[in-house]
Amino acid sequence: MSSTPVNTEIFTRRESQARSYCRGFDTVFTSANGSEMTDHNGTCYIDFLAGCSSLNYGHNDPDLKQALIDHIQADGIAHGLDMHTDAKAAFIEAFETHILAPRKMSHKIMFTGPTGANAVEAAMKIARKVTGRSNVIAFTNGFHGVTQGALAATGNGYHREGSGVPLHNVTRMPFDGFMGAPADTSAFIEAMLTDPSSGMDAPAAIILETVQGEGGLNTASAEWLHRIAKMAKKAGALLIIDDVQAGCGRTGRFFSFEEIGLSPDIVTLAKSISGFGLPMGLVLVKPEHDVMGPAEHNGTFRGNTHAFVTARAAIEKFWTDKSFEQDIARRARLIEQGLQAIADMIPGARLKGRGMMRGVDVCSGALAGEICARAFQNGLIIETSGPEDEVIKILAPLTTPDEMLQSGLDILIDAAQTVLGIHKYAAE
Ligand code: PMP
Repeated sequence: MSSTPVNTEIFTRRESQARSYCRGFDTVFTSANGSEMTDHNGTCYIDFLAGCSSLNYGHNDPDLKQALIDHIQADGIAHGLDMHTDAKAAFIEAFETHILAPRKMSHKIMFTGPTGANAVEAAMKIARKVTGRSNVIAFTNGFHGVTQGALAATGNGYHREGSGVPLHNVTRMPFDGFMGAPADTSAFIEAMLTDPSSGMDAPAAIILETVQGEGGLNTASAEWLHRIAKMAKKAGALLIIDDVQAGCGRTGRFFSFEEIGLSPDIVTLAKSISGFGLPMGLVLVKPEHDVMGPAEHNGTFRGNTHAFVTARAAIEKFWTDKSFEQDIARRARLIEQGLQAIADMIPGARLKGRGMMRGVDVCSGALAGEICARAFQNGLIIETSGPEDEVIKILAPLTTPDEMLQSGLDILIDAAQTVLGIHKYAAE
């Protein structure tokens, strides 16, 4: 914790009004450990936001931290463009051995600029280059980042408006469930793809999140995803799974599409791939589609060596056997129970998401916002998602000890009860 008082006025005076999370969590954080963050007053918060799923292994994991300290102490390379380094070799080897090979994925690893948006830009460019087509199919409520290309694939109107220019070369299709549960949106998409006069240009790619992180934790069914994958193949389009938020264990397995049995042509990863909150982005691409020329998708930070060090340590710590997946499954059940308790208080409320990417749609953005604000007052960092911010969304570190997870859920349930004016009468 910092010993000198923090001048909070500096933020309002000098930081751009574009700042955002700091508005909802209006304090100054000074340290963090595991699933907790501490502010300058010494107040401790349980973190159910985890850097928006960039901290799946928590804050300052001791083994990852030690690996990084050792690397720095030894004057290891900090920045090496995309030159060969020992740290990069060690990461690729660990990723190949523990992630790609066991899943029989032959994909090449292409390092992009260190953000999710940059990985998405690269993925879309690859698909366009492979197919010679420009159109990309993206989905309602999909979120892929805010650089122009990725933003064109993003549904959110507020973010799109920030573009300042028309966003082209993307056709929007309805995600699974967009029109209510009984409507099979894949039938509509198939009709659009197969009727030569549908008016839709042949797509280079279909890009989607299996669970829409920012769009309200909408979860595509396995059947729907398989139908979309089949359609993509038939149409000669590449299937891009954007696993920037849902990947790295968030939905229960390393990749969000694993248990569904999909074999995407391209996968984007960022957020938690470094394991430590360090910037890092990459694209996994099937070898036959590895068409980008040297530096064609250029970037000064295509090799954050410190991130390679922590990413390797994370894979070797968490992904060499099945025990972490079992922990995630157990914690996911706790989260489900907690969220169900909230859903039971609100008519029409329903649970959303999958694994430890879960939330509850409370049918009102105002209500969700009030509950999260109250929870923050009581020591819990949590935010909302969805088109109207109506989904209270839990993205706790996957490593959160069960007891702490329960404490966080209790704060949330209590906040919901308070906001809804329900009084506890449990005998204590
Ligand atoms: N894709 C998905 C699925 C995301 O959730 C996000 C970020 N929320 C992005 C891409 C963009 O990542 P970044 O903010 O690192 O550019």
